[in-house]
Amino acid sequence: MEKLIIGHFYPDLLNLYGDRGNVLALMRRAQLRGIEVEVKRISIGDDVKVGDIDIGFIGGGQDREQNIMADDMKNVKGPVIKQMIEDGVVFLTICGGYQMLGKYYEEHDGTKIECLGALPHYTKGENERFINDTVYEIDINGVKTTVVGFENHSGRTYLGEGEKPLMTVIKGHGNNGEDGTEGAIYKNTFCTYSHGSLLPKNPAITDMMLSIALKRKYGEDYKLPSLSTETEDLARKQALEYIG
Ligand code: GLN
Repeated sequence: MEKLIIGHFYPDLLNLYGDRGNVLALMRRAQLRGIEVEVKRISIGDDVKVGDIDIGFIGGGQDREQNIMADDMKNVKGPVIKQMIEDGVVFLTICGGYQMLGKYYEEHDGTKIECLGALPHYTKGENERFINDTVYEIDINGVKTTVVGFENHSGRTYLGEGEKPLMTVIKGHGNNGEDGTEGAIYKNTFCTYSHGSLLPKNPAITDMMLSIALKRKYGEDYKLPSLSTETEDLARKQALEYIG
């Protein structure tokens, strides 16, 4: 039986708007296929080594929580997280978690948080928050898919060299409200401003992440068994109707 280990980083600090639902969605769509899943909670004081996890997850947080975990992320877990990202471990990071992977996050009042620097983006906070239900488009292996989500951030993120946007904005603000980009992708690390509803309502992304993680672990020939997306599609359809 195949098994995946999901590392949920800072679950006690970074978990806004149901971000944990992403971990539940990964678990559920794996377990329905007979794949065993273990979730490890990895916060300040917890140990993690390269090779411990197959999928890493970092949710969003308020500026206050980002200040609390910044030192641990940069100076304690930093080298391990960086190595995992370079090795191609699958990561999903949302909003505050996305910002923390970059170089720095300058809050709207000018306070600067030195971030991990695993990816080259940087973020500047503004007084006006971007709060929206969102619609994006993602390209998964050449198939364009509509993605629904929700954003709530003061930070404007600007991508750096070698980083590509994960999606394009159809409705909402995305990375910075200027360039139509949303999120970032580097190797198998996926970053987005789209909160809790990302994976539960967008199963194509869930399955893409599961497939990459399982191929890394069990070989390129591994084929993710097909699984209905009927329920998730209904939820996405309803969200799209509501967003208008
Ligand atoms: N504190 C960050 C901001 O406001 C991230 C917020 C979040 O994770 N929702 O930009």
